[in-house]
Amino acid sequence: MKQYDYLIVGSGLFGSVFAYKAAQQGKKCLVIDKRSHLGGNIFCEEVEGINVHKYGAHIFHTSNKQVWDFVNSIVEFNRYTNSPIANYKGKLYNLPFNMNTFYQMWGVATPSDAMKIIKRQKNEAVTLLNGKEPQNLEEQALLLVGRDIYERLIKGYTEKQWGRKCTELPAFIIKRLPVRLIFDNNYFNDKYQGIPIGGYNKLIKGLLTGVKTMVNTNFFEERACWERIADKIVFTGKIDEYYNYCFGKLEYRTVRFEEEVHDCSNYQGNAVVNYTEAEVPYTRIIEHKHFEMFGTEIDKCSKTVVSKEYSTEWQPGMEPYYPVNDEKNSTLYIQYKKLADEEDNVIFGGRLAEYKYYDMHNIVEKVLKYF
Ligand code: FAD
Repeated sequence: MKQYDYLIVGSGLFGSVFAYKAAQQGKKCLVIDKRSHLGGNIFCEEVEGINVHKYGAHIFHTSNKQVWDFVNSIVEFNRYTNSPIANYKGKLYNLPFNMNTFYQMWGVATPSDAMKIIKRQKNEAVTLLNGKEPQNLEEQALLLVGRDIYERLIKGYTEKQWGRKCTELPAFIIKRLPVRLIFDNNYFNDKYQGIPIGGYNKLIKGLLTGVKTMVNTNFFEERACWERIADKIVFTGKIDEYYNYCFGKLEYRTVRFEEEVHDCSNYQGNAVVNYTEAEVPYTRIIEHKHFEMFGTEIDKCSKTVVSKEYSTEWQPGMEPYYPVNDEKNSTLYIQYKKLADEEDNVIFGGRLAEYKYYDMHNIVEKVLKYF
């Protein structure tokens, strides 16, 4: 008899939802995490009474009612709606591209006037291509939205994100660039969105209530011992590390955050402001209080915390954020996946073990489906 039914490596959303559902079925779980806190990348730290998203801004959104009902059964979510602003050389534009953006850009007030300009600029791109397929991201974006939107809102931001010129990036990165001919700044098309009232730590706490957890505990440091402790392992760490990098290291892209506390109640008037010109070194500034404080609540808290986000080339040892789904890494992952598929007692789940970018709702949906 083993001590636990499941050893869950990683207390992020995957591990925590898994533990919750398994415990509901009467299974005995132990959750370990190498970090000093639970919650993985959705962990928040309280600074000046504000929940700061330590691993990047997280906004929950889904169209799946079952997923929405599930997370709300653990903690109620607020009505936060993501409506980012773009700052290009000091001029502000609403995102995603919609009638507000077109009014700010060209002074047009009707969908037909906006469409006329977009169509004209798209035709200019077709003429430039002269029958060729778009060869790079710049040509593709010009074809999809025309020069003004591309140059002011896409070019600089994308070049900072990827650390390369748009003319050196492949066209397939941008498949679609939707333009909305309505005055609607809601970034997501999903039916439901919000932030847990009281922050994401409440969600994790609710999921892990009654489950044994250990932080500062790295699976690989006592691997043999952890492998004996439970009938099954749920592994949410890096799949290449699980197999001791036997085929080589998978690569990631990462983000560096610079946090600042300001002596004012409202720094930028919005949770998310994108800086779309190449000359500003950061891609976004996040003002965390706007995720959870609305109306008069904003001024009740006299300080504010912002994070500047710098897209950074990933080196081994850095926080792995986004998988690089190019041919080299995809081939490498398939080799590891073959090994994983042969395991009887290990479940690989989540963004690191599956080497795939998942939004939070995808993760919850996957675990709910599993059970
Ligand atoms: P993680 O949260 O990374 O959890 C994995 C855990 O495993 C970590 O705590 C880690 O410490 C632990 N671990 C790893 N190796 C070991 C080991 N050897 N021993 C012990 N523990 C180990 N999604 C949205 O829906 N909306 C958003 O706005 C959004 N914004 C994002 C912004 C950024 C910058 C990033 C990177 C992601 C964002 N996401 C967003 C995606 C979201 O973060 C993921 O869907 C979610 O965190 C995945 O959960 P996970 O459990 O798979 O991984």
